[in-house]
Amino acid sequence: MSTEFDVVVIGAGPAGYHAAIRAAQLGLKTACIDAALGKDGQPALGGTCLRVGCIPSKALLDSSRQFWNMQHLFGEHGISADNAKIDVGTMVGRKDKIVKQFTGGIAALFKANKITPYYGFGQLQPGKRVSVKQHDGSMVELTGKHIVIAAGSDSIELPFAKFDGKHIVDNVGALDFTAVPKRLGVIGAGVIGLELGSVWKRLGAEVTILEALPDFLGAADAEVARAALKEFKKQGLDIKLGAKVSKAEIKNGEVHLTYNDGKADQNLIVDKLLVAVGRKAASKGLLAEGTGVKLNERGQIEVDEHCRTGVDGIWAVGDCVRGPMLAHKGFEEGIAVAELIAGLPGHVNFDTIPWVIYTEPEIAWVGKTEQQLKAEGIEYKTGSFPFAAVGRAVAMGEPAGFVKVIAHAETDRVLGMHLVGVGVSELVHEGVLTMEFHGSAEDLARICHAHPTLSEAIHDAAMAVDKRAIHKVN
Ligand code: FAD
Ligand code: NAD
Repeated sequence: MSTEFDVVVIGAGPAGYHAAIRAAQLGLKTACIDAALGKDGQPALGGTCLRVGCIPSKALLDSSRQFWNMQHLFGEHGISADNAKIDVGTMVGRKDKIVKQFTGGIAALFKANKITPYYGFGQLQPGKRVSVKQHDGSMVELTGKHIVIAAGSDSIELPFAKFDGKHIVDNVGALDFTAVPKRLGVIGAGVIGLELGSVWKRLGAEVTILEALPDFLGAADAEVARAALKEFKKQGLDIKLGAKVSKAEIKNGEVHLTYNDGKADQNLIVDKLLVAVGRKAASKGLLAEGTGVKLNERGQIEVDEHCRTGVDGIWAVGDCVRGPMLAHKGFEEGIAVAELIAGLPGHVNFDTIPWVIYTEPEIAWVGKTEQQLKAEGIEYKTGSFPFAAVGRAVAMGEPAGFVKVIAHAETDRVLGMHLVGVGVSELVHEGVLTMEFHGSAEDLARICHAHPTLSEAIHDAAMAVDKRAIHKVN
C-alpha cells in the first residue's frame, strides 16, 4: 500500500478528524494517525472529546441531572419519586456505550471518505515525513504534501498530587468511578472541576472544590460568575476560593490534603481527589530533531492565525496550538486548514467562538465581557433579562439566571452575550449568529421570538439595551 498522501493528519480528535474528512471531501488523498485506545483496548478515534471529554462528561451530567431533578424538582410538579436509587455501573455503562457509538462513528466516516487510518504514535520527521510506531510494534513511514498536526492536549499533573488512577485522578478516572465517592475533593474550580464536581455532587458525594485564585470563573462575565456561584453554593457544592493546595498524601485509602486559605494551613480528607488545573499541549515526542516546527514557552506548537507553523506545508490545529481548548474551535481550524490546503479561502473567526459550561444552571457566552470592554476603553451599553420573568422557564421550574446583551454605545453592534440558566448552551448561538453577521441589539429586538420559549429572554434583554423591555420595569 502506498504511503504517499496529499495530507497526513496526526491525531484523530475533533481538530484532526475534521481536517481529515474535509480534506478527503475535497479530493485529497488523506491519512490520519491516532495513538489512542478505548476502554476495551482497541483503537478509538475521536480524541479526548469523544473518549474522555465532551461526550462522556455530558452523558454523566445528563444521568446525574435526572437523578437530581427527581429528588429536587419533581416534588413541585406533584410527582413523588421516593426511594430513588442509582446504579453507577449502569450509568457508566450507558456513557461507555455512547462513547463507543461515537468513536465507531468516526471510523465509519473515515471509511466512507476513503481516509486511511493508522493506529499508533506518529512523529514528525524533517521533510514532511511522519514515522508511525504502530500498536503491534511495527514502524511505517508516511509522506504528505501537507502534514496537519492535531495532537491535542493532556491533563496537567501537580508535582505533589501525582495521578495514581485510583485515589488521585484526572478526568479519565473521574468519568469511571465505580461507586459514588463519599467525599470528593477537586483541585481547580474551572470547567472540568465544575462539570465533574456537579456530576458526583448530584449523585450524593460531598464535593469540596479548592481553587487557587480569589475570583470565581475569571474568564466569564463577572455578573454571570457571581450568579452561578450562588446557585452552585445552594446545591451544596463547597467551593473554596483562594485555596492554595500544597500537599496531597494517600493514607489508608484516603487523600489527605493541606491547603492555605490565605490565613492559615487547613486540612481536608477526601476519598477521591480530582485534579483539574488545566491541560497542556500534547507535544511530547511529537517532533523529531530538525523539523523546524517551533514550540512556544507553554509547549504549544507555534502557528499564525491560519494555523501555519512557518514550515512550508506543515500546519497545526486544535488544543496543541494557541487559543481556547474547545472541541468546536478545533473543528473550525481543522476545516479551515483543509480548505486552505485545497486552495479555498478557509478562515476561523476567533471573536465568535462560544463557551459553554454544562453545569446546572448552564453558563454560556460569546464575545467580550464587561471587564474586557472596560479594560479596552470601549463604551458599551447592556440589557439584561431574568429567566424568573420568562413564562417557559417558570413553567419548567427553572427560574434561575439571566441573559445579558452587551452592545456598542454608539453603533449598537452586539459585542457580547452572556447567559446563565436553563438551556443556555443552545440559546448562546443566537448571540453567535448576531455577532457573525455584525448585527445590533436593535436587530435582535426586532426578531420575532416564539412564545413561550426560553429565547424570549434574549429578546427582552436586547430590548432592555434601550430600556424598552416589555416584561420588566426598565
Ligand atoms: P484531542 O481531542 O486531544 O485529540 C488528539 C488526538 O491525537 C488524541 O486521540 C491523541 O491520542 C492523538 N495523538 C496525540 N499525539 C499523537 C501522536 N504523536 N501520534 C498519534 N496520535 C496522537 N470541549 C468542548 O468544546 N465542549 C465540551 O463540552 C468539552 N468537555 C470536555 C470535558 C472534559 C472532561 C475534557 C478533558 C475536555 C473537554 N473539552 C470540551 C475539551 C475538548 O475535549 C478538547 O478541546 C478537544 O478534544 C480538542 O481536540 P483536538 O483534536 O485538538 O485534540
Ligand atoms: P481550566 O483552565 O478551566 O480550570 C483550571 C482551574 O484550576 C482554574 O480556575 C485555575 O485557576 C485553577 N488552578 C490551577 N492551578 C491550581 C492549583 N495549583 N490549585 C488550585 N487551583 C488551581 O482547566 P480544566 O478545568 O482542567 O479544563 C481544561 C480545559 O478543558 C478547559 O480550559 C476547557 O478549555 C476544556 N474543557 C471545556 C469544557 C467545555 O467546553 N464545557 C469542559 C471541560 C473542559
